[in-house]
Amino acid sequence: MTEHTKTDGLPGMDNPQPAAAPEPAGGRTVIAKVACNACPVLCQISEGRSGACDRYANQGGLLIRVDPVVFLRRSLAEPEARLVPFTPRPQAQTEDANSTWNGDLLLADEVFITGVGSSTTYPDYKPAPFIVSSQADGVDLVTVVTEGIFSYCSLKVKIDTDRFLGPEQANIRCKGEVVGHVTTAEYGSQMLSLGGVHHLTGGSKKEGRVTVEMMEALGNKKPVELTIDGGAQILIQAGKAPIVNGVEEKRMRVGCGSATIGIFAMQLVGKVDEVVVVDDHITGVLTEHQAGRCLDMPPSGIQMSGRKSTPGRYFQVANPGTGWGGTDIDNPLAIIEGWNPAVAWPGLRLLMTSTTGEHATWYVLNDALQPIEQDMPDEIRLIVDRIGENCEPSLTTVLFLGGAGGSLRAGVTENPILLTRAIKSALVNVTCGGAPAYVWPGGGITMMVDVMRMPDNSFGTVPTPAIVAPIEFSMKLEDYRALGGHMDYVRTLEEALRHGAWHNEGAPLARSWEPLAPANPWPLARPPLLG
Ligand code: SF4
Repeated sequence: MTEHTKTDGLPGMDNPQPAAAPEPAGGRTVIAKVACNACPVLCQISEGRSGACDRYANQGGLLIRVDPVVFLRRSLAEPEARLVPFTPRPQAQTEDANSTWNGDLLLADEVFITGVGSSTTYPDYKPAPFIVSSQADGVDLVTVVTEGIFSYCSLKVKIDTDRFLGPEQANIRCKGEVVGHVTTAEYGSQMLSLGGVHHLTGGSKKEGRVTVEMMEALGNKKPVELTIDGGAQILIQAGKAPIVNGVEEKRMRVGCGSATIGIFAMQLVGKVDEVVVVDDHITGVLTEHQAGRCLDMPPSGIQMSGRKSTPGRYFQVANPGTGWGGTDIDNPLAIIEGWNPAVAWPGLRLLMTSTTGEHATWYVLNDALQPIEQDMPDEIRLIVDRIGENCEPSLTTVLFLGGAGGSLRAGVTENPILLTRAIKSALVNVTCGGAPAYVWPGGGITMMVDVMRMPDNSFGTVPTPAIVAPIEFSMKLEDYRALGGHMDYVRTLEEALRHGAWHNEGAPLARSWEPLAPANPWPLARPPLLG
């Protein structure tokens, strides 16, 4: 599990413009304001107040970033790889001294400053707020830390369900506004594309505001309700089961209908004469399927609806829906058109099941070759239960996809293309709140990160509208120099903390990751940094 602690705000780090002294104006006193230029909104903030995004405030005439900077700590138990919790200080007295860090710089090599709460480089003429040097295994490293303001960003959402959520390309609405669309379904999952520059900037002001709020909430692991045109109403939250039309989804299918036939054919043969696995995409029929043929199962004479693709694999047996196997059927017999009387026989045993085993019925053909529902034999029930056992829990996964190939690079280097090239050459490790980011091949720095691996509440917004997200670039110091880095701004962690960032008062606040989140690797240990 990965956790972190945080500092207090960093006075003046972002835009240290002191407030003007109050001046008499026509008998009135003008209240001193501080100008914030950390985004294009350019708030004028009065003493004791915060700006439009609630991320910056005027404290005693200084502009401060109100959220704490989040620090991560390397695991001492698994020094090669993992990040671990900071334990709140009151508990630390009773615990292993190695399990906590209260700001003691003897442990500074174990600490990683994330971009969460760090403030930004905007308007991009100045170096990133933290450019921190460190050493690992005798190698000098540097990490450039900032909060990016992303106008070009979206969320890719994977919802583990067979159920029909809506047609591909259908609009997805939040509070009535279009905020995304249904995109290509994947294996066992429906996929949504949410947010993006067209909804943020290309529609009405309300559409942009609702979109950015929806993205912030999902990125911060909070629930969001969405409605899909011509489809379902869903309640989704990263790391949690989706709720489709008010029903919580439990299982992700074991495979398509054809795959389910193949996986369980050996267990079914000899106990059943025909099996149909109902699936919206590929419905499987055991005796026709290559698996049944290889196991010498005789034909059953079943005649299926839908379009035959290859033997034992049928497309479009019904319409998509929230019934059996992601179809709209409640009665599975509806997809059987009949039986060939020259082949089928009275007493034929038929199992019909969905791809999750949630729906399953046992039939026996009567003398008129009509399937009659009967109690399922225990040995068949065991196999159906095993189909269910092989289904993973249904989850919602949210990936943040952002374009970092723009102006924020100027906070890293005076020659931005060198940063882009260094990332493509794998000289730079890109993380978001300490979580590993995947950088897409091709042009730009288009990176993608699982929000569940990021600290809670990593995302913010500005009213432009745009998303604020942490990003860190780690590399060897010599590589940083070579790509035109802001060498005059490189500081040790100790210097960064002494600069006013660290207030070692009160218990560090630990905000935990969900237990199911995979532990993140130590950001400074990834090749090629130490290679
Ligand atoms: S909205 Fe922009 S200008 Fe206003 S306080 Fe926030 S970052 Fe600063």
